[in-house]
Amino acid sequence: MEIIKNLVSPEKYHIKCPYNMTPEGYCVHNTANDASARNEIAYMISNDLYTSYHYAIDDKEVVQGIAENRNGWHAGDGVGGRGNRRYIGIEICYSLSGGERFTAAEKRAAQFIAEGLRAKGWGIECVKKHQDFDGKYCPHRTLDMGWQRFLDMIRAHLYEPGRLSGTDKSRGADELILYLRGPKKNGRTGTNMWGYEVAIDKNGVVLENPHYSGNTKIPEGGKVLSGHGKAGEWIYKNIKKGYHVWFDTHAHVSGGVHHSVDHFNGIREADELVIYDKGAASNTNMWGWEVAVNAKGHVVKKRYGGKTDIPEGGFVLSGHGKASSWINKHVRVSDCVKILGNIVKIG
Ligand SMILES: [Zn+2]
Repeated sequence: MEIIKNLVSPEKYHIKCPYNMTPEGYCVHNTANDASARNEIAYMISNDLYTSYHYAIDDKEVVQGIAENRNGWHAGDGVGGRGNRRYIGIEICYSLSGGERFTAAEKRAAQFIAEGLRAKGWGIECVKKHQDFDGKYCPHRTLDMGWQRFLDMIRAHLYEPGRLSGTDKSRGADELILYLRGPKKNGRTGTNMWGYEVAIDKNGVVLENPHYSGNTKIPEGGKVLSGHGKAGEWIYKNIKKGYHVWFDTHAHVSGGVHHSVDHFNGIREADELVIYDKGAASNTNMWGWEVAVNAKGHVVKKRYGGKTDIPEGGFVLSGHGKASSWINKHVRVSDCVKILGNIVKIG
């Protein structure tokens, strides 16, 4: 996404951005006015107030006022605050009046943040709201309209499945190829070194993190997923050691962790993983981790304890003992959860 830069002058660094910063996430705000992104940044860099932020985003543009390696004063959590010292401040414009311009600005912000998360290798948990740092009701209109809804907009840009171009054929530009025996049936992919590959064992488990090299040996009874160019980047970002890899009938490829489901509804016994999709809440005692998953398949709540409310059209994933530990380790708020038969898949 194109970024228009109107960076604050170094003479104002002592006011606007005095500290070096290694960012660890995005902090989302609403401007609470009706200025355009250009005007918002032009005003911020010209005045002598301490308030500062990195980007303003409206329905048409992303405008940057501070480099990402310098801090901004936007999170209200003080000189040493995590928000002010570690987070990239994003102002979404036109929140005072709202309407179409604001909706379009939010959409652009979601896309911009998603691109940033991908580029930096960050997860959705790196997106915070101003409210998380000092309790202020900001981003006000985004919160009014639903914070989870905004996170879902970001996620929609993050989780694209891979698209398989073929099996056991030679790999073309930007192609994702699955190798079962190899084009020469010699148990190797026969690819050149310009792509990412991962070996997957006979149970569908990824044996290693993606490596940038070719001609990988295909595991006995397993397979190798190989990508060139954009498909290689997809492997690098979406597949990790220990993941399962799924292939659907539309040649979509996705990866993630999984767990078998013991049953739906009913009583949760020791070490069981149970899905509750009937009634108002899970029918459980307090001894286990549970997550509430909305109708879109995104985790909206994670808690230790029983009787978690079931979101409308969604379900609660509930674990006891070993299954509880698995939920705690692998499932986070905003993760994507899918049920395939009696398998639950995260990622
Ligand atoms: Zn704010």
